[in-house]
Formats: sequence, C-alpha cells, structure tokens
Amino acid sequence: MGYKTLKFDNGNSIEAGTMYCIGQNYAKHAAEMGSQVSESPTVFIKPPSAYIENGENIILPDFSDNIHHEVELVVAIGKDCHFIDESDAWKYIAGYAVGIDVTLRDLQTNAKKDGKPWAIAKGFYTSAPISEFISSEGFGNEIPYFDLKLSVDGNIKQAGNTSEMERSVANLVKFLASVFTLRKGDVIFTGTPEGVGPIKKGNFIIASLSNYKKIEVGVV
Ligand code: MG
Repeated sequence: MGYKTLKFDNGNSIEAGTMYCIGQNYAKHAAEMGSQVSESPTVFIKPPSAYIENGENIILPDFSDNIHHEVELVVAIGKDCHFIDESDAWKYIAGYAVGIDVTLRDLQTNAKKDGKPWAIAKGFYTSAPISEFISSEGFGNEIPYFDLKLSVDGNIKQAGNTSEMERSVANLVKFLASVFTLRKGDVIFTGTPEGVGPIKKGNFIIASLSNYKKIEVGVV
C-alpha cells in the first residue's frame, strides 16, 4: 500500500505521519457524551494507515454496530517541533484541513468501561478521512478560526466554529510537542463540536472547513 501524502493547495505534499487526536475539546460535545472537559488534554493516536482522501470510502468494519462521525479541524505539522513556546506554534504549522474522526462508538464505550485503550475504536482502517490542506502561508503568524460543518446525505448534522475549542491550536501544538515531539507530516485532530451521530452503509458525507476546503466520502 505504501505511504500516503498530505496534499496542500500550494502544490506541496508531505508524507503522512502520526495522527494525534484530542478528545473532548468542545464543552457541548463533552456534555453530549455524558462527560466534561478534562483538566489535562485527552489524547489518542490513529496510525497513518487510517488516513483516506477526498473521494475515497469509509469502510465500516463488521465488528461494530454503532459508527459515528466527528467533524474536526485537522492541523498539519510542517517542521519538527519539541519544547516550544505557545506563541511560536504557528511557525510549525504547515496547513489546515477538515477531517472526520470516525469512531466505533460501541467499542469505545466498552473500552471506557473496561479501562482499555481506544486504539481499535478510533484507529481502524479508513477511520481518518482528511481533505486537502490550505497552506498556512497566507495567515502569517495568526492561527485563524474556522467554521466546521458536516452533512450526511444532505442533512446538516454538525456545525460549529473552532473558536469554541477549550484548548487552542497553539496550546495543543505546544502540549503535544512537549510530550511526544511533533514531526513534519504529523497531524492533529483537534476535537469535535456537538452533534455527533451514526453513519450507515450507503451514506454520503460532506464536511467543510469554512469556504476553504471540503471532503466528500462514501460509506461502504
Ligand atoms: Mg474526535
């Protein structure tokens, strides 16, 4: 299968690395999960093999009966990054995309109950659709806010804005760099606003990042 690359609208492409994902970064989503925003960030990882691009399909695994969409801002790291100041975070960001943190909710719920990892519930094959990235070049030293939207078969299910995030993009870059070291090609799924819900075979999903980027994926 080989490596997949993150594609940027300025023509650049970078080999996809580790996908760091943040849980419960929007208060309303934490509440709809019967939870609250935790004191330290909730972090999990998807393998690069989970990544699919615009026009590909989410393949539902047969070991789950409850699969959810979570629309998220995805940040691409463009430069290796370790122990940085939050105010420097923008220097390490190559671009922004919209992604879907596809989740096997039944497996995740059981894992939470049993105190087990979320790796299967969150990292299965095709669990990480990501659009093309808008290059950060045009934003200077600003990390902008974006609208996030997701529809299933034309019905809007999620609509939010990244200004509602509990922990900012800069804060997450700083935190992850201090724990793991971020490398060029790594991405960060920054958490989902409220409105998550089930997807089924035959659904067609469209997710967008303001008017910049869009991803369309089928469900098979
Ligand atoms: Mg998520």
